Amino acid sequence: MKTEIAIVGGGLSGLALADGLHQAGVDFQLFEARPRLGGRIAALATPAGAVDLGPSWFWPGQPRIARLIEDLGLRAFPQHADGDICFEDERGIVHRGMGFASMEGSFRLEGGMESIIRGLGARLPQERLHLSSGVTEIAQDGRLLIDGDRWCEARQVVLALPPRIAATLRFRPALETDTARHLAAIPTWMAGHAKFVAVYDAPFWRRDGLSGDAMSRRGPLAEIHDASGPDGAPAALFGFLGVPAPQRRGREDDLRAAALQQLARIFGPEAAAPVTTDFADWAIQPETATEADAAAPAGHPAYGLPAALVGTWEGRLHFASTETASDMGGLMEGALASADRVLGLVLGARRNRPAR
Ligand SMILES: Cc1cc2nc3c(=O)[nH]c(=O)nc-3n(C[C@H](O)[C@H](O)[C@H](O)COP(=O)(O)OP(=O)(O)OC[C@H]3O[C@@H](n4cnc5c(N)ncnc54)[C@H](O)[C@@H]3O)c2cc1C
Repeated sequence: MKTEIAIVGGGLSGLALADGLHQAGVDFQLFEARPRLGGRIAALATPAGAVDLGPSWFWPGQPRIARLIEDLGLRAFPQHADGDICFEDERGIVHRGMGFASMEGSFRLEGGMESIIRGLGARLPQERLHLSSGVTEIAQDGRLLIDGDRWCEARQVVLALPPRIAATLRFRPALETDTARHLAAIPTWMAGHAKFVAVYDAPFWRRDGLSGDAMSRRGPLAEIHDASGPDGAPAALFGFLGVPAPQRRGREDDLRAAALQQLARIFGPEAAAPVTTDFADWAIQPETATEADAAAPAGHPAYGLPAALVGTWEGRLHFASTETASDMGGLMEGALASADRVLGLVLGARRNRPAR
């Protein structure tokens, strides 16, 4: 297979880049290791709608995501924040009306964040989106090895991958030490985290005057939010696990049970009887996290593209992904910004290519 631009990674940055190339009439092929598109954007499908397992929110002041949502005809709604907030102390005693709604003012998407992925995916030529196609090796002449047995030859290659995942690929010749070191040093945003989701018949906590927001020192969930759809359907709560990744390993069943007990302590006995639950541990997903991501960064890292990652292989190898964005890096807005930057680079390189 031959192409102009090979995109490795079908998360938001890879898909947005593919969309830009398609609109510019440039040939591309996109290779995604997972059997689905979206990367860190994923959801639990329920009969009443999707519940986010990756990102839930976007915020005012994020122009790219706002434009994309409008362009795809999607509907945003404010994060539910009416009602009391709860605080659970280390003894498991619940204090009502304490703390602050940390996500008030954030926006969610009807149909979940996956609807962005579905919308982008649907307007791209399907034959150019290769699922379950992990790239393992990249050569400087533009050849990529897919799943160890197929080759693609491209003029330019874009790694729309978390930099630490990119660092695990085989490069021929090997990347310069400085380039490889910088790639491996960039933490992948949220890769060390896990989310627990519980879906109910109705958002009963709202009836009881609770917002669904809770902070806990007892755990296992450290921070809980209402994850329901726009009119409370599907009705759902979600929590970020407060247990670090290494201590979660092999304990999923215990943690699920403990999370339900905790939701019942905070929101009442109805919380112990969900319709369904899900547990997404991003730290054990090899397409997202490496061992180094088990320790989550203390704060939001200062992301951006280090100089050592610019102009690699005479400008034929580019790095996208949200972690390469200096503004809003880590967030979906950053993923879109990285796609914009790389789109400019690959189109520029095409224009400057000597005619043959
Ligand atoms: C739990 C959680 C909560 C979050 N909350 C928010 C939020 O509320 N708001 C927000 O803005 N952002 C949030 N984020 C961050 C957001 O998800 C990311 O900014 C965004 O999804 C990154 O997109 P990306 O394309 O840069 O990377 P990714 O989504 O990581 O895409 C990379 C893609 O490359 C694929 N891949 C990996 N290796 C290979 C290979 N060898 N060959 C081919 N393909 C490969 C992966 O499968 C993946 O599809 C959250 C993330 C998580 C995990």
